[in-house]
Amino acid sequence: MKNYILALTILLSSCSFEQANDDEVVIYTSRQPQLIENLLDVFTEETGIQVTVLSGDAQQLMERIAVEGVDTDADIFMTVDAGVLWQAADKGIFNPVESEVLSSRIPQHLRDIDNQWFGFSKRARTIVYSKTEIDPQDLSSYEALASKEFMGKLCLRTSKKVYNRSLIASMIEANGSERTERVVKGWVNNLAEPVFSSDTNVLKAVEAGNCSLTVVNTYYLARLIESNSVENLGIFWANQEDRGVHVNISGAGLVKWSNNKSSSIKLLEWLSSDTAQEMYAKANKEYPTVDGIPLHPVIEAWGDFKEDLIQVDKLGSMQSDAVFIAQTAGYN
Ligand code: FE
Repeated sequence: MKNYILALTILLSSCSFEQANDDEVVIYTSRQPQLIENLLDVFTEETGIQVTVLSGDAQQLMERIAVEGVDTDADIFMTVDAGVLWQAADKGIFNPVESEVLSSRIPQHLRDIDNQWFGFSKRARTIVYSKTEIDPQDLSSYEALASKEFMGKLCLRTSKKVYNRSLIASMIEANGSERTERVVKGWVNNLAEPVFSSDTNVLKAVEAGNCSLTVVNTYYLARLIESNSVENLGIFWANQEDRGVHVNISGAGLVKWSNNKSSSIKLLEWLSSDTAQEMYAKANKEYPTVDGIPLHPVIEAWGDFKEDLIQVDKLGSMQSDAVFIAQTAGYN
């Protein structure tokens, strides 16, 4: 049986793991255990390899791996957002993995160019609007949300969240810094309320009529729809006339000091299998990174969209430029 250890506060001094044996893979992850528990049970059933999960805050976990170095029990680091995975690679905690399976299954733009980490689910960040306040015919792109017609109608989550920094990074890549700064200033001018702390809260504000539109990761909307908490929210796929919807990933990589590299690579490869892709994406109402995998019914109903094919590493390497633009534009 797997051991699920919830470590909300991680003390570097308290290491309670036994030495990993050959048939055990230890994952350090910021993902909630319930999102991956069933999936990993299937992996263990199929392969006989035991998996132990240590959950916690992404920054603290990657710091912990870096500090523990050769003494770490971590075999795999798994988290969300290419910006965070890029930081982990930048800290030097990963070992590149050359795998025929992973490079053929995971699209090139959804993995690190040096194969230090791989995307296993996709998260689309797009426009959600109030059906009573907004005619979707008037919507087009993230950039157009800066136009005067949306004055006093827009609500946004804080730019301190990595999701928005990655979105801004994708705009810098597409449009350059100057135009991006103008767009972000326009968003700030259009805000109906101060920035929100979560995607869910901002969606509830649109549902309540305090704002008319926002930009969120679609799985937050899917959760509210599934729990019948909202009825007035429509989804709009942004930038379909140009680069497409901003897409980020959740992903994982092999830890440089793993004592069990072959089983760990087996697990990473297995995460790209049809079975794992379907289970993993459905658990959090995300999109699989592998094409042709059945979707959760709520997101299936939203139909297809064109996605921005930016190499996701850039969302990490351009993070500091995105922070600078958000600050200059007064986007808190
Ligand atoms: Fe999230």
